[in-house]
Amino acid sequence: MERKSFIKTLGLGTLSTFTMTTLAGFNKFSNALKDQDAIMPLLFVGHGSPMNAIEDNEFSQRWKVMGKEIPLPKAVLIVSAHWLTQGTQITAMNFPKTIHDFGGFPKQLFDFEYPAPGNVALAEETRSLVHSTVVGLNHDWGLDHGAWSIVCNMYPKANIPVLQLSIDYSKDAPYHYDLAKELASLRKKEVLIIGSGNMVHNLQMIAWPMINGGGFDWALSLNEKFKELILDGDHQQLIHYDKLGSDARLAIPTPDHYLPLIYTLGLQIKNESISFFNDKAIGGSLTMTSVKFG
Ligand code: ZN
Repeated sequence: MERKSFIKTLGLGTLSTFTMTTLAGFNKFSNALKDQDAIMPLLFVGHGSPMNAIEDNEFSQRWKVMGKEIPLPKAVLIVSAHWLTQGTQITAMNFPKTIHDFGGFPKQLFDFEYPAPGNVALAEETRSLVHSTVVGLNHDWGLDHGAWSIVCNMYPKANIPVLQLSIDYSKDAPYHYDLAKELASLRKKEVLIIGSGNMVHNLQMIAWPMINGGGFDWALSLNEKFKELILDGDHQQLIHYDKLGSDARLAIPTPDHYLPLIYTLGLQIKNESISFFNDKAIGGSLTMTSVKFG
């Protein structure tokens, strides 16, 4: 949907009216909880191919169901594998653009727009929660496919603000785990936090005959190991994944798609329920395995 027609759909005449409405809505954000004990579930989502945005397949179907299963959030904050920066940044624009950060896909995917609003006040509030580093307010990024391919299925009306938090690629997993903990209070403010990556992600080893399903032995066995550690709450082994042996070295050749999981682990509350979805390997060396906490 074009941005103009999206605004029209909302019945708002001008951009400034919409901006004011968005901000006014957020100013009440912190006080608006009906139930102080209510905590928004938390997701790690294996995003896989950008085509999942527009294809009606088992993964996108599950995302659609998930959008209806969990309480409607006031905003979504996504840590995507596809936004790697020096230092940590958060998107702080009223209208984040749809970024088509890939090549070799059909025109239909490049034409796709997800015109969800941002929320500047939430960006500022998130920034104020983090004391371990200075979170930069970003006005240039937008939504990359690690974010929009999922939320366009969960919230197809694009009427919920979506923000992204970048991954400081100069930092290690323990740093990201601790940073995530500083964001914990957002879950009590009806913010849905999503880590978007893939636990097993080795594109160099993709086996095309298995693209619709199937994993190498090492990928399948590590997938089981990851699930076991997540269920056991053994975060230390997951944080120090480099000590998990040769399977982990194959699964995580670079940490970009794994670190979003570390954010969700940092945000997990003790004894909260854990369930897996889209628990499947594709292309031999990639898993779509996703986790719902809460
Ligand atoms: Zn990706």
